[in-house]
This record gives sequence, C-alpha cells and structure tokens, in this order.
Amino acid sequence: MSEATKRTEVIAVGNQKGGVGKTTNTVHLARALAERGKRCLIIDLDTGAHATTHLGIDPNAYLGMYEVLLGSEEPDSVLLSRDVEDRIDLPERLDIIAGSRKLENIDVALREIDTMMEPHRVLADPIAKLRGHYDYLFLDTAPNLTTPTIAAYKVADWFLLSAMPETFAIAGLDAALKDIDSARKRGNRNLKILGVVVCNTQKRTRLTRELLDYVDKAFTVQGSESKKFKTEIPRSTVVSSAQKVGKTVFETEPDHQVTECYRQLAAEVEGRINTYYQKLNDAQTEAASNA
Ligand code: ADP
Ligand code: MG
Repeated sequence: MSEATKRTEVIAVGNQKGGVGKTTNTVHLARALAERGKRCLIIDLDTGAHATTHLGIDPNAYLGMYEVLLGSEEPDSVLLSRDVEDRIDLPERLDIIAGSRKLENIDVALREIDTMMEPHRVLADPIAKLRGHYDYLFLDTAPNLTTPTIAAYKVADWFLLSAMPETFAIAGLDAALKDIDSARKRGNRNLKILGVVVCNTQKRTRLTRELLDYVDKAFTVQGSESKKFKTEIPRSTVVSSAQKVGKTVFETEPDHQVTECYRQLAAEVEGRINTYYQKLNDAQTEAASNA
C-alpha cells in the first residue's frame, strides 16, 4: 500500500431499510469522488454483496471482509484494485473489499475464535490500518443491525443516510437517527451526520413531498442548514442497466443527468467536509488566541 499520509474520512452509509439506494449511492458517490482525483475504498459489509457485484466483481471469487473481520486476512491483502490485479476492471482510484454471503455466519465464527472478543469492535483494527491510505473509506452496510452494521456505526467519522420516496421511508430514517444517537453515546463521539441523499425521485408526488418535508424538519439543527443534500438523484433506468453489466453510470452514461447529479453530490459532500474542518480550525485558532 501507499504511504499513510492522507486524512481519511470514514463514511458509513445506512438506513434500517433495504432497497433505499444505500449501495447505489455508495458506489456512485465513491466513483464521483474518484473522478475528482480522490482515492476511495468501498468496504462491502452486506451479505448480499451488492456493491461488489455492482462493480463487476464476483464475490465468490475473492476473499474479502469476512476474512478481514475474522482476522485471518489483512485488509491490504484482500483489497481489489485495478493496480493490484489487471484482470479487474475497476475504475481508477476506486478499490473495494468484497462482501460475502459468508458474513451471515460472522457471529458464530467470531465466537469460535475467541469467546471474549467484542464483536462490535471488529472493524476498529482494520479501519485503523487503512486510515492514511485513502481519502475516503465507504462502509456499505446491510439493511439490518447485524454485527458488521453495528461495527460500522462504532468506527465511522460520518454517517450518510439514503432515502427514496416510499411508504416506510420516514420510519427507516427515524430508526437510523436513533441508532446514530446511541452510537455517539456509546463510544463513538466523533460520529457526525454527513447528510441525507434523497434518490430515485420522480415528479413531486405526495410521498416525495412528505419525505422532503420530514427530512428538512428532522435533519435541521436550529440555526444551521438542513442536512438534506440539495442534489437529489432522479429515477432512471440507466441505474439498473449499469448494475446489470457490473458498471457505474460513469462508465455506461458519462453525460447522463443521473451521472451529473452524482458529480454534484460529490461536490456537496466535499464542501460539507471542508466546511467542518474549516470551522474546527477557526475554533481552535480562537481558543488558542484566548488562552
Ligand atoms: P439498498 O442498498 O438500500 O438495499 P440499492 O442501492 O440496492 O438499495 O437500491 C435498490 C434498488 O433501487 C436497486 O434495484 C436499484 O437499481 C434501484 N435504484 C437506486 N437508485 C435508483 C435511481 N436513481 N433510479 C432508478 N433505480 C434506482
Ligand atoms: Mg445494499
């Protein structure tokens, strides 16, 4: 691996619901950031391994997160990258560690190794080893609170939520907000909400308006802007067409509106993170000058 010189942002992508765009947004946001010159790694923590297949990789063909969580492989020995394996057709600067069906069995397997280990801490060591080598680490989580999902809440710097206008969208976001809050209280005080991506939107249907209203209310801290990203991702068949061939829309439809929206989203994400560090820096400077 490269020298550990980068400030790495660890972004967990979640929502208690399945089918709300977590994986699609993870893969495309990482792809858009890679296009902006940033080094990105997707860590696929889902038993469905959809992020892995979305990037054209057969999860059964490679070792991945299952082995890393068990401690039998180092993260850098299983990460897939176009630089490591020229058989792999990954975009430049976009690496992945594969998910696996085997993750369903992770709790039993962890207990067999060490009955005293804390399953919810299993990501701490692998993430610590990867920090410094990437600009962004994305943790794509399962739609339920499995051990790897909880471990992601415990280790991430940022939480990105994903929602689509549909019947239980608000309940899913509500549940995720509660979990973020308890992750903060229980050991990860550094966890911050990066924002909510509303995706798969069509025209302004009643469900869309309700979702947008809710997000604006629930994700606005008094005196600051809403955490909803201004960029919404419209519904389009280019998304599933790209998924079917194991590509992102950046490869299949580089000039499409959806692709352009993901570029804008990436700019918003970087803007928010930069603003955060700017404010932190200003506060530290002020504290130092008052000391
Ligand atoms: P999750 O990871 O939350 O389970 P996915 O990212 O797999 O959700 O998305 C669920 C489904 O929605 C997938 O079939 C995906 O193709 C589809 N989808 C996501 N975003 C869009 C979009 N902008 N337009 C059309 N379909 C979309
Ligand atoms: Mg998914």
